[in-house]
Amino acid sequence: MAPPGLPRVARLVAPYELAWRSFRRPPVVVLSYQHVEAASLHAHLSHLGERFQFVDLHDLLRPNRACWPLRPSVAVTFDDGYRCCYTDALPVLQRLGVPATVFVVTEFVDTGRSFWWDRLAHTLAHSPVRSIELDGRRHDLDAPCRRDAFVRRVRALVARLPADECAARLDDLLRRLAEPAVTVSPDTRLMGWEELRRLRAAGIHVESHTATHAALGVCGRAVARGELEAARCHLQRELGEPPRLLAYPYGGRCHSSPAIRRLAAETGHWAAVTMLPGVLRQGGDPFLVPRVRVGPREALDVLGLKVSALWPVASRLQAALRASWW
Ligand SMILES: [Zn+2]
Repeated sequence: MAPPGLPRVARLVAPYELAWRSFRRPPVVVLSYQHVEAASLHAHLSHLGERFQFVDLHDLLRPNRACWPLRPSVAVTFDDGYRCCYTDALPVLQRLGVPATVFVVTEFVDTGRSFWWDRLAHTLAHSPVRSIELDGRRHDLDAPCRRDAFVRRVRALVARLPADECAARLDDLLRRLAEPAVTVSPDTRLMGWEELRRLRAAGIHVESHTATHAALGVCGRAVARGELEAARCHLQRELGEPPRLLAYPYGGRCHSSPAIRRLAAETGHWAAVTMLPGVLRQGGDPFLVPRVRVGPREALDVLGLKVSALWPVASRLQAALRASWW
């Protein structure tokens, strides 16, 4: 049975998808998931499978690859290594035969550590503090939408601070918000090496998202090199082969500068993905691969728009509006 609303979606999106077919070499839309739920992911990939072919990003970005897909294509990636990739995504990917790539932060695997954004979200949900000062501005935390906006604000700050300053600022922030002693909730658990080995055995590529999710553009060249090399050694040791792809943490323009791209190449990567808007074109810079972020419960019509020929323009407009809003 077709998911509810699908005819409306098809009417809305088909003209934009058809536009990709006018390209002699259609670009590849690279999706970036973080959290997933099995039912939504199944609906997403089934919907996309009717209109696009799925390609293996690892194979597509292999150096000196001569051929390029002739049909509009989609590649699927997952960032940060949350356990839902194993529990929810893997069965769906296997059932539908969809290739995928998972980017993991190696020093968080099998350690019980949580990412700062999960600690912050968990703390905000339990904190008695209803207003806090950050960077000279006071932020109200009394409603979920205000707390979400505050997390985005902290994220923007973290992405431009060197690692040691960033850690000190986050510790101070969490202390002022009265961080609870236990911060790991089930949906923020990460995969362990055994689960990653099972993904590998199932044909899913497990690649580098650095050692500690450092903001590569601001942490200094030596630290950035150390992050890439440590992740490379760790993946080689645990999975038996080195990473060939890299996902730049935070993925913005300053974290994928020419110097960082050279560093990625020097540390043995074939290519790297960003969070910059756009699509992957034949002959484009393999160390500057744009991606489209997809939420765990993204509506099918929104997903349809995001993989359409309209999205590269619409997403730039959205980013500009958001920047001026802030
Ligand atoms: Zn990440």
